[in-house]
Amino acid sequence: MSENHSRAPSGAALRVKALQTLLEEKGLVDTVSLDRIIESFGDRIGPRNGARVVAKAWTDPAFRKRLLANATAAVAELGFGGPEGGHLVAVENTDRVHNMVVCTLCSCYPWPVLGIPPMWYKSFAYRSRAVRDPRGLLKEFGLEIPPDTEVRVWDSSAEQRYLVIPQRPAGTQGMTEEQLAELVTRDSMIGTAVISPPAGAGGTR
Ligand code: FE
Repeated sequence: MSENHSRAPSGAALRVKALQTLLEEKGLVDTVSLDRIIESFGDRIGPRNGARVVAKAWTDPAFRKRLLANATAAVAELGFGGPEGGHLVAVENTDRVHNMVVCTLCSCYPWPVLGIPPMWYKSFAYRSRAVRDPRGLLKEFGLEIPPDTEVRVWDSSAEQRYLVIPQRPAGTQGMTEEQLAELVTRDSMIGTAVISPPAGAGGTR
């Protein structure tokens, strides 16, 4: 299974820089398009794409169905795809099941919908405890999962990456898809958080 993960060698950044310089000198790539790729993963793409996917799944039952059947194809409908995005699987939280995502060997992560993984996602502590003691780990994230809710841990690889569809919070009935997307956090799509009802939502809107 380890060959499914891309382990970065130490000094990887230096190697990349050296390769980039060589490729540029030989006219094989240009700096502008490289910068554009890096920028889009760092800032523009990021978890906002995933938030749009989740908000659409909450408001469009047909899309939700397609997302659960084939997430790669469903997110492509919204224009999301590309590197580190193949074989995406969406897993849905319910009252009975809470899903969380890890990459036990390295840091495989669905870039097109979540951007670059946070530091803690790559840490040994997270990677090992997510499997050994997921409930204890989630407690440290401030998330207490009720004993009768099953916790499912999904181990990512280069072959398969996961997006958690968090539960839609109460009190959001009148909200538009755009407003709902604003509520969706990165961590809720990794499964280390849930989404709180919006401030002031009494549950009767
Ligand atoms: Fe990995």
